[in-house]
Amino acid sequence: METEPDLTKIHQHLRKKNTMRIICPSCGNDSDFFEVADGAILTTRYIQNSDGSFSQDGDESQILGEIRFFCAECNEDLTAYHQRFVEMLF
Ligand SMILES: [Zn+2]
Repeated sequence: METEPDLTKIHQHLRKKNTMRIICPSCGNDSDFFEVADGAILTTRYIQNSDGSFSQDGDESQILGEIRFFCAECNEDLTAYHQRFVEMLF
């Protein structure tokens, strides 16, 4: 008698692990986060209209420094998870 391993179940389990949510290891928060950028140059382009008023035409802000990622609940530094955060940002 042969017993086949239930690969479907194993794969489902692995997929779940790969799409794991970011969870703060210190307080368990998995919903509120913030991103902090050091040394940003905020450049905003404006176009002057014929009546002398201005309209914003794009935002060319540049981040020169480090980008850090924090838990919004306990302020734990979660920068190690930032790459995954960026990948999951839509
Ligand atoms: Zn936390």
